[in-house]
Amino acid sequence: MMAAPLTPCWRGELREHEPMAGHTSWRAGGPARRFYKPVDLADLCCFLQDLDEHEPLLWLGLGSNLLVRDGGFPGTVIFTFGALTASEWLDDTTLRIEAGVSCAQIARLTARRGLTGVEFLAGIPGTMGGALAMNAGAFGGETWERVAAVETVDRFGQLRRREPSEFRIGYRSVTGAPGEWFVAAHLRLEPGDVEAGQLRIRELLERRGATQPTQQYSCGSVFRNPPGDHAARLIESAGLKGLRRGGAQVSEKHANFIVNTAGASAADIEDLLLQVQAEVERIYGVHLEPEVGIVGEAGATMGGQGNE
Ligand SMILES: Cc1cc2nc3c(=O)[nH]c(=O)nc-3n(C[C@H](O)[C@H](O)[C@H](O)COP(=O)(O)OP(=O)(O)OC[C@H]3O[C@@H](n4cnc5c(N)ncnc54)[C@H](O)[C@@H]3O)c2cc1C
Repeated sequence: MMAAPLTPCWRGELREHEPMAGHTSWRAGGPARRFYKPVDLADLCCFLQDLDEHEPLLWLGLGSNLLVRDGGFPGTVIFTFGALTASEWLDDTTLRIEAGVSCAQIARLTARRGLTGVEFLAGIPGTMGGALAMNAGAFGGETWERVAAVETVDRFGQLRRREPSEFRIGYRSVTGAPGEWFVAAHLRLEPGDVEAGQLRIRELLERRGATQPTQQYSCGSVFRNPPGDHAARLIESAGLKGLRRGGAQVSEKHANFIVNTAGASAADIEDLLLQVQAEVERIYGVHLEPEVGIVGEAGATMGGQGNE
């Protein structure tokens, strides 16, 4: 007698060959073989329990720090934005917030409650999960300065609570708990003032708009700043502002941004990144390390969307 096929317990949305250009802020990149948007955290755990243990996984928030090569990602993308969205006040100043909530929403939510500490998140176009993975920061603030604890999940759907001391936290870098991904953060804030917080958010957004090409498709800063210097300064003084490769261009407004001006492929962007890296190394002897994550396989060029 044949066993009846098991009905999977998960209820989320599973798509095949999902174009990643639609999920990355560069608007470039090939398809993910499979793409899963869970209904909630319990559903994500069910999906992971059901998954082949060798399936390559890529966690995706808002794709604002990610380049997926044109050949796409040969595994399953787990899409958290708008999926892991729960939030809860654990006490007067500690917020439990899930990984798929946008940084902008967290800044607004906490400022409205008269709490201070994460206003800098307002202009970072990613999710809580991405901010934890990257230790995102701006204007003197960094994500992990506010983390009291995190919750993680492994590929078998096992949830854990972990302390910041279990991770090595650096400038745009977080390592520790291999084989686990972030599903929530417990953020510890300080009492502040509603109006002052909202004013600070407006000021930070204005400063960002004045110095960054926020109206163009990019991934923010391409390279980490080398110790004691700024990647943008080195790139600009090497004369690389405006340099083009296909539809990709070193921004005229901020030299550490590469913008997709017109249907750039992921290969255009990666080639330009490598050219900038090589030129800065040749001229100044400084090796710029990419801040942006590059994943997937090289492949047929599939131009993304440009915004000019
Ligand atoms: C215009 C612009 C301005 C920016 N300004 C800043 C800035 O001021 N400061 C700054 O730090 N960054 C900045 N960035 C970069 C980016 O917004 C941040 O790195 C952000 O934290 C990425 O979040 P995300 O949700 O988009 O992550 P994604 O791009 O989706 O993912 C980034 C990396 O994190 C991993 N990841 C995502 N979610 C999880 C998870 N739940 N668990 C484990 N790993 C995960 C991904 O696999 C990937 O390796 C900017 C980007 C843009 C486009």
